[in-house]
Amino acid sequence: MLADKDRIFTNLYGFEGSDLKSAQKRGDWDKTASFIKKGREWIIEEVKTSGLRGRGGAGFPTGLKWSFMPKTLTERPHYLVINADESEPGTCKDRDILRNEPHKLIEGALIAGFAMGARAAFIYVRGEFYNEGSTLWQAIHEAYDAGLLGKNAAKSGWDFDIIVHRGAGAYICGEETALIESIEGKKGQPRNKPPFPAMAGLYSCPTTVNNVETIAVVPTILRRGGKWFAGLGLNEKNAGTKLFCISGHVNNPCNVEEVMGISLRDLIDKHCGGVRGGWDNLLAVIPGGSSTPMLSKAVCDNIHMDFDSLKEAGTGLGTAGVIVMDKSTDIIQAICRLSQFYMHESCGQCTPCREGTGWLWRIMKRMVQGNATVEEIDQLYEVTKEIEGHTICALGDAAAWPIQGLIKNFRPEMERRIMEYRKAA
Ligand code: SF4
Repeated sequence: MLADKDRIFTNLYGFEGSDLKSAQKRGDWDKTASFIKKGREWIIEEVKTSGLRGRGGAGFPTGLKWSFMPKTLTERPHYLVINADESEPGTCKDRDILRNEPHKLIEGALIAGFAMGARAAFIYVRGEFYNEGSTLWQAIHEAYDAGLLGKNAAKSGWDFDIIVHRGAGAYICGEETALIESIEGKKGQPRNKPPFPAMAGLYSCPTTVNNVETIAVVPTILRRGGKWFAGLGLNEKNAGTKLFCISGHVNNPCNVEEVMGISLRDLIDKHCGGVRGGWDNLLAVIPGGSSTPMLSKAVCDNIHMDFDSLKEAGTGLGTAGVIVMDKSTDIIQAICRLSQFYMHESCGQCTPCREGTGWLWRIMKRMVQGNATVEEIDQLYEVTKEIEGHTICALGDAAAWPIQGLIKNFRPEMERRIMEYRKAA
């Protein structure tokens, strides 16, 4: 369990103000210039030492990602782009940072921007986060007024600006290259890679895209030291603290900061008042946002919530959006609803995703009723395999994985429903 003294987001629930003065009382903007004066290499090394991995879903080592940016600064600008387009069903952690801890994000943007040679950061805020975007905007204005942004930001000798860009509600704009296209004023459709954004990203310039939580933890890591962060969590590859969002059939759904690698059972029992009706009433858990395959109760009994433990279990930590389902859940209907979501959000560029997500949803609708054959369960699985890994971006995988998880864990229930439908016909 995370000790209060190691908590980074001390105002996650908004009990105190999100304004600059309140943030400074909590320790934000302390010694910022001194970190910048230590140089780019020092910051990147300290972030590497911390073991911080991206908090947006992929879990790529953050320091390493920053080091991919060109070392030499030329007239081609570098950009930091911060992904605040949080749209993965079950996930609502960045939202709390935007509305209650915006200064952690702004300070982190300055430090990260400097480390990658960027003079500007774009923060792409999900369109539906109107109030959160406004709070962020206000905090940015405060930072400019206090000399923490703009020329010689925070007296660091580095000029730095932040631009807020509001999205218009498309899930796919959370994909980093679609997000870049959207900032450029184009349709939010993912780009083929390579080239990767570090070589040709925003306006074809070197760009790093990071998640809100990833950037917001950086100032505290530098203040307390990379080794401190690395010492929290399960092991060096799964280090630090993490914001978990727990929703669904628990007594108290909540967002909470915990150590990486906490057991799922502790997370639910200690922070959410347990599963509705008790632990034995648990049916399944989606551990990392809607795209990650579900875990059966038997696996949930002993699983740890970190990148590698969940990967070993055939799923992923993703965004750490934990969706808990008790035995009252119609599990086939639940996954069918996700299929509809992914079909709706497909940008339509690649055939396996554009056509396949519709196929999946139509078969799943019949599976909910049991109006199918047992062989069609195998066909459904084959369609997911034809989509997975055959598309430009990960939305195709995201549509395939929940169904694969359903078939892996609940095939007998799917077959039972088919038999029942036949009997009743
Ligand atoms: Fe668009 Fe889907 Fe292809 Fe991604 S996988 S680029 S969302 S069609």
